[in-house]
Amino acid sequence: MLENLKQLVWELNLELPKNRLVTMTSGNVSARDLETGYVVIKPSGVPYERLAPADMVVVDLNGQVIEGSRKPSVDTDTHLYIYRNRDDVNGGVHTHSPYATSFAVLGQGIPPVLTSVADIFGGPVPIGPYAAVGGEQIGRAVLEHIGESPAILMKNHGVFAIGPTPELALKAAVVLEDVAKIVHLAMLKGTPLEIPEHEVARAHHYYQTMYGQKQSC
Ligand SMILES: [Zn+2]
Repeated sequence: MLENLKQLVWELNLELPKNRLVTMTSGNVSARDLETGYVVIKPSGVPYERLAPADMVVVDLNGQVIEGSRKPSVDTDTHLYIYRNRDDVNGGVHTHSPYATSFAVLGQGIPPVLTSVADIFGGPVPIGPYAAVGGEQIGRAVLEHIGESPAILMKNHGVFAIGPTPELALKAAVVLEDVAKIVHLAMLKGTPLEIPEHEVARAHHYYQTMYGQKQSC
């Protein structure tokens, strides 16, 4: 079942090591099927190079495995909490990507000091509190602090990115790591300069309405 979505989720999971967002088996991508409401997610603890589309696990919104011989990711509860509580979210990504996570270790968000922060995040990349893995704590903390942003840094942990599609959630996770690396380098030289709030709002609106091949969507 959901062969196309399993293929897509498998491909997007492989983007994590390709973009150097994960090491070993950490990280995961999930997507919600719009028709059935089921969620397809990476299995737990299988190395990326050994993953196949058929390894992706189909679960319902309560975490019941609908199809798949593997155990779903340990972060499944977090993804499902987000899907249950945000109808606009159909894709989720979790990584411990190193530059972004270094800000999470310091308990710092990333201020809007780059046009790409304004474009993609529409304001500072928020920082959420520490929350223990397992159960609903992380999902609840993510939604309490993420606001309108497509990604959040969770203190002492890593990145959670969400989107109306899994591709957009992945894009937010990739851009966040790139932004975090640039801001990290800038902080070695001095104090990053923030873009004024009104310009962040203007740039965000412009990017969200004008970027890409809109006429074909
Ligand atoms: Zn994690």
